[in-house]
Amino acid sequence: MIGFDLSEVHLSVQELVRQFVSREVLPEIGRNDSEGQFDRSLLPKMARLGLLGLCIPSRHGGFDFDYISLGLACEELEYGDTSLRVILSVHLALHGLTLLSWGSEEQKERWLKPQARGEKLATFGLTEPDAGSDVVGIRTTARRDGAHYILNGEKTWISLADVADHFLVFAWTDPDRREQRDHRGLSAFLVERSMKGFSSGTHHRKWGIRAGNTGYFSLQDVRVPAANRLGKEGEGFKIAMFALEQGRYTVAAGATGLIRACLDASRKYALGRSTFEVPIARHQLVKQMIAGMVRDYETSRLLWLRCGWLKNQGRRNNRETSLAKWHATVASERAASDAVQIHGANGFSDEYPVGRYYRNCKGAVIYEGTREIHTLMQADYALGFRSDRPRRCDLPPVPES
Ligand SMILES: Cc1cc2nc3c(=O)[nH]c(=O)nc-3n(C[C@H](O)[C@H](O)[C@H](O)COP(=O)(O)OP(=O)(O)OC[C@H]3O[C@@H](n4cnc5c(N)ncnc54)[C@H](O)[C@@H]3O)c2cc1C
Repeated sequence: MIGFDLSEVHLSVQELVRQFVSREVLPEIGRNDSEGQFDRSLLPKMARLGLLGLCIPSRHGGFDFDYISLGLACEELEYGDTSLRVILSVHLALHGLTLLSWGSEEQKERWLKPQARGEKLATFGLTEPDAGSDVVGIRTTARRDGAHYILNGEKTWISLADVADHFLVFAWTDPDRREQRDHRGLSAFLVERSMKGFSSGTHHRKWGIRAGNTGYFSLQDVRVPAANRLGKEGEGFKIAMFALEQGRYTVAAGATGLIRACLDASRKYALGRSTFEVPIARHQLVKQMIAGMVRDYETSRLLWLRCGWLKNQGRRNNRETSLAKWHATVASERAASDAVQIHGANGFSDEYPVGRYYRNCKGAVIYEGTREIHTLMQADYALGFRSDRPRRCDLPPVPES
């Protein structure tokens, strides 16, 4: 049976996050964005609401909510600002859900539990100065030395790089496979900020997601215990792809929230502003832009909800999640551009939020698989070059709430 109603639990999560955004985020976001200020005080507040461990099982310190609740939280957070949704994407989806699925019981106890409770902040370190889309182009190495690995390399464009405590890092453990560009030579590691040889910095002068922290980190002869390796040696690429699938889901839901923010701001402005003696909302070409936002919001929402529904049942959703992410992020670019257009010259200033939406939406068309990478993936699924066979999605199914 197919249903489109949200449950009482879903509605309560939506309302909780909506109130948090309206009370704690919206009053300050204009200033934080223009000053490029990451507001750390939001983290304990998000932790108190349970957002940092929302869909992690309670036995691992989390709150047992389902994946649709996660999507709803992301939609509401990005309605406020993209930087808030990014926290959930890297901390909970790319890092936490990957640890939940691939970690040993000891690893979950040691790292996932404090993350889910919001005592430690986590992120995901794949991209390097010379490699983003081309994952096997990374250069970071992990050389085995007895009971440790010695990690060396540079990661860049990492969300929360300068504030996170835990880093999921990808590195080559097999130099021969690296030469052959064979991804079976990659492995994943849990690195802590406190480890000797770790240092980080912030990218200043970003023109989007300015209220978020984005930066770089360096690993110089960092001795990482073998117990910090996630999965087996050689499983790094599989782990990275799994993590990205979780992250993309949150990006799709978040971009949907950004489209809704564009629609709400544009509706208000179009009804209040008059030209040629009528509200601009009465002009057909303005209506066309509003209608486009409605179309983009509804279709983006249906696509991420379907992914959440599949995730809740532990079913494969890689093709659907790629499609949802691709569609919602490209649609959010269109919505933000039209929102600025509807605001005319006022949209070109920081007096109205639509300029921020326009700058923020672009990041999601680049990270977690660029628009081009998702275009290729969708073509490859359709052409049979990429497998769309049902498989376990590697996340524990959760009962629908
Ligand atoms: C705000 C922000 C936050 C980020 N946070 C993180 C993070 O937390 N962790 C992390 O690991 N990374 C993060 N990233 C990095 C992001 O994942 C990469 O930027 C992304 O993977 C693209 O890589 P790149 O920038 O090196 O571009 P490239 O891979 O060099 O691509 C450049 C251009 O070439 C195109 N292109 C590349 N290959 C192909 C192809 N085969 N066919 C057609 N076109 C192609 C791309 O689509 C793009 O348009 C973040 C980026 C941003 C902007």
